[in-house]
Amino acid sequence: MRFTVITYGCQMNERDSEVIGGLMMEAGHTPSVGLEDADAVIVNTDLLAEADLVILNTCCVRATAENRILGRLGELKRLKKRNPSVMIAVGGCMTQYGEAASRIAKCFPHVDVVFGTHNMHEVPRMLETAAVHRRRVIAVPAGDASEWGCDHPVPSMRMPGVTALVTVMYGCDNFCSYCVVPYVRGRERSRDPNAILDEVREAVRSGYREVMLLGQNVNAYGKGLADGIDFAGLLGLVDDVPGVERIRYMTSHPRDFTDRIIRAAAESRHVCEHFHLPVQAGSDRVLRLMRRGYTRAQYMDLVARIREIVPGASVTTDIMVGFPGESERDFEDTLDLVRVVRFDMAYTFAYSPRKGTAAEGMPDQVPPEERRRRLSALVSEINPIALAKNRELVGHTVEILVEGPSRKDAGVIAGRTRTNKVVLVRSCAATPGELVNVRVSGARTWTLEAEPIVSPRDMPS
Ligand code: SAH
Ligand code: SF4
Repeated sequence: MRFTVITYGCQMNERDSEVIGGLMMEAGHTPSVGLEDADAVIVNTDLLAEADLVILNTCCVRATAENRILGRLGELKRLKKRNPSVMIAVGGCMTQYGEAASRIAKCFPHVDVVFGTHNMHEVPRMLETAAVHRRRVIAVPAGDASEWGCDHPVPSMRMPGVTALVTVMYGCDNFCSYCVVPYVRGRERSRDPNAILDEVREAVRSGYREVMLLGQNVNAYGKGLADGIDFAGLLGLVDDVPGVERIRYMTSHPRDFTDRIIRAAAESRHVCEHFHLPVQAGSDRVLRLMRRGYTRAQYMDLVARIREIVPGASVTTDIMVGFPGESERDFEDTLDLVRVVRFDMAYTFAYSPRKGTAAEGMPDQVPPEERRRRLSALVSEINPIALAKNRELVGHTVEILVEGPSRKDAGVIAGRTRTNKVVLVRSCAATPGELVNVRVSGARTWTLEAEPIVSPRDMPS
């Protein structure tokens, strides 16, 4: 079969889609358009017509993601009407969420296979059963999440590009009161460091220059492993792998962020000077209700230590507004934190109630229109700061890792600084994977513009 995997949600899901794609290829199937980000496929629905099999890898962190997936399932019904031999499989977080798997099975009879986050290695077999016996296969593991392992095979299909995603741990034990992740992804399980290093070496052999280490809370890496390794130790090991040019990681929990991890960025050669530290809120009362395990003062102290130990580091964050009980005063505290910390960039979210989480039943739910108002007020606070921080770089020389031609502008290449800023460079002949120094000539809120630095050797004589 020619298959397409459409991914919703975070980079953990992107990596899972690569694993699913690799498993399908090992089973003898071929990618049609291969792995697609959900947004890209929405733009070009015709792409789906080329597939014999469409696999949706889903997300349920917020209701918006779920609604998009349900809309896509509706569209796929029409595709199946036009071409009844097309198979449709749905897997990932959403299918592990409450009654979603049985609801999908009931409401979308055109779906052939439903699988969960913990049995994706069985997908090729499930599809074969569905095809051969012409029946639906619905299998979503339930039971004790601590028993869901992490030692399934890791095949090698990867998105093209310069960055290899490498999962270092699965699940999360934090149970932040708004979040479904611990329920749908199970307890924290760290992968064996040797398996991770093998995967990094293999990625380097395939030409990847940057490694993105993934987990819901990577700072908790190593708990329960025999050899006493922690995340800073793992960074050190990956830093020593020949050919790795840059190392990034996602996501960090501010509570578990040690000075050893900060020093890894200062002292190692390849760990990037970028710290993504989701703060979620600037009010201690809300942080407590969210069960985040740190105070506003502790968070600010962490950022101060980072900026002291790693001068020039960028700090980005996730912020949520409209959490139950968040008063106008609490929200003001969040705006104030944004002004004081001055984030380089922030992902912003309106709180989305999720069934089964502690926050769902909390009193004083903020009405949806007020959540939206706070979200846009927050964005108006963040954007000018991001722009001002980018403007500070104008005139400076930065090293970028070239990713490829810009998607929007012909003749422009896109790359990233070690601090994770996107840089667009005109008239530059560099190819993907190259490290080049460029001079920043302009700044926008989310991107920098730069000019190639012409060395005296390259000047016409
Ligand atoms: N493990 C990561 C990422 C979790 S999900 C972390 O701890 O940061 C990514 C982001 O989605 C979170 O940081 C949070 O800001 C947001 N998010 C999670 N649950 C949400 C909910 N119920 N409503 C709105 N945003 C949510
Ligand atoms: Fe969700 Fe909190 Fe775990 Fe992040 S740390 S995945 S927000 S429970």
